[in-house]
Amino acid sequence: MDLARRTKETGYGSEGKLMRKSLASRHGSKRELLRIDGRAVEVTMRLNPRARRLIVKVHPSTGEVTVVAPSRISLTRALDFARGETSWIARQLARVPKQVPLVSGARIPFRGVECLIVPAEKGRSFEFAALLGTRPRRVTVRDTASRWGSCSANKSISYSWRLILAPAFVLDYVVAHETAHLLEMNHGPRFWRLVRSLTPEISTAQAWLKENGVMLHRYAARETAP
Ligand SMILES: [Zn+2]
Repeated sequence: MDLARRTKETGYGSEGKLMRKSLASRHGSKRELLRIDGRAVEVTMRLNPRARRLIVKVHPSTGEVTVVAPSRISLTRALDFARGETSWIARQLARVPKQVPLVSGARIPFRGVECLIVPAEKGRSFEFAALLGTRPRRVTVRDTASRWGSCSANKSISYSWRLILAPAFVLDYVVAHETAHLLEMNHGPRFWRLVRSLTPEISTAQAWLKENGVMLHRYAARETAP
């Protein structure tokens, strides 16, 4: 869905056919700082031969200020034009909602419900590791073809993102399995004792993956060629 753009146009016309023909680039752009309400606002000036006149735009969600100019000649007037519209630009900027950076502590809507972003240390993987008194050096999520999870000798664990498509007990089992490898790099009795201490659903999860694992690969992360 497109956001409606707030724009303001001038009465200046384009520079005529001769000028349009001499335009070498349609993508020429430059940036300048403009003082608006006591602060420096970056203004991007862009050349667009299809524009009919100088237009200043303020993006309603990012507050990005752009002046579109139909020709190189008008491009030289673009900053002056924006300067003449500072009170209009200031009014638009005042309406731009405050940006929310996606950092720890920020609140964002997830499926329409406000959620707090917390650091990954509180994730289930680290929870299991803490129970075993250890910690993975790194956790990565990939689109792996053959394995649901893996644990390397240097304590790096990686998971298939597709596990989020599986029931929670399956995900728990894979995390328990890889976390147990942090202490036991084998599938011996001690290893399985560790897994059992983290999750009771070993055989049901293994059976589920055997039965349904292939189906999780139906979902393409990207469009594939037919
Ligand atoms: Zn294993």
